[in-house]
Amino acid sequence: MDRRELFKLSASSLLVPALTEGRLAPVEAQPLSVLTKPWAPRHTVWSLPQSPVRRLAWTVDDGGSLSSLKSYTDLLKRHPYLRMTFFVTSTYSTWRSIHRYLQPLVDTGQVQLANHTHTHADLTRLSSTQIGHELNSCRHFIYEYYGVKSQPFFRPPFGYYNDYVIRSAAAVGYYTPVMWYGTLGDSGSITGHRVVELAKAYFHDEALIIGHSNNLTASSRFDDLLKLIRNRALKTVTLNDVWRS
Ligand SMILES: [Zn+2]
Repeated sequence: MDRRELFKLSASSLLVPALTEGRLAPVEAQPLSVLTKPWAPRHTVWSLPQSPVRRLAWTVDDGGSLSSLKSYTDLLKRHPYLRMTFFVTSTYSTWRSIHRYLQPLVDTGQVQLANHTHTHADLTRLSSTQIGHELNSCRHFIYEYYGVKSQPFFRPPFGYYNDYVIRSAAAVGYYTPVMWYGTLGDSGSITGHRVVELAKAYFHDEALIIGHSNNLTASSRFDDLLKLIRNRALKTVTLNDVWRS
């Protein structure tokens, strides 16, 4: 028997038992937490559903400052138990600049990327086609650069939306507008002291929090914010941790 025949024989002996036994490939076991997660709602969300675990969704919008994005990414790398959702405004080049540094966190799911439109436009002033373009441009960017799906979660810039925006967004796969229960107030000028005061007011079980990555104000008080999360026994979660999509 030459080597080629020997190879054919050994290859077929590997295949035959699987074929004759007619077994199906085993179905990969899903963790119970995945199976019990509710589907992402087809309506606006302002907070998290009830859970036996005390959960907080810390979301961060825009990406106007590379230093800020870097500080959030550093924080997440230092504290692997922390989980956040970043709402990406894809026209900012910061998301390209931070890509290699952020990608590992996206890969593990510690950071979720969701859609905050391409140019941060007020969607209530746009046509349905333009709304679709804003969301699709951002969707393409997130998928092309980070390799992840961002549907169905989107945050309308400035929190401006109406039924027309909701229908237009749903038509391109973004059927869960994500608003917030509490804010860190850092979309504009604010002191670090005030950020901590707002966090004390809003960091609670089931809270959906909005912050911004446009300046370093929140970053300067990260230690206080983490202390608050620890003292209140809160577990930070991404939207994908809470809902199936
Ligand atoms: Zn924004």
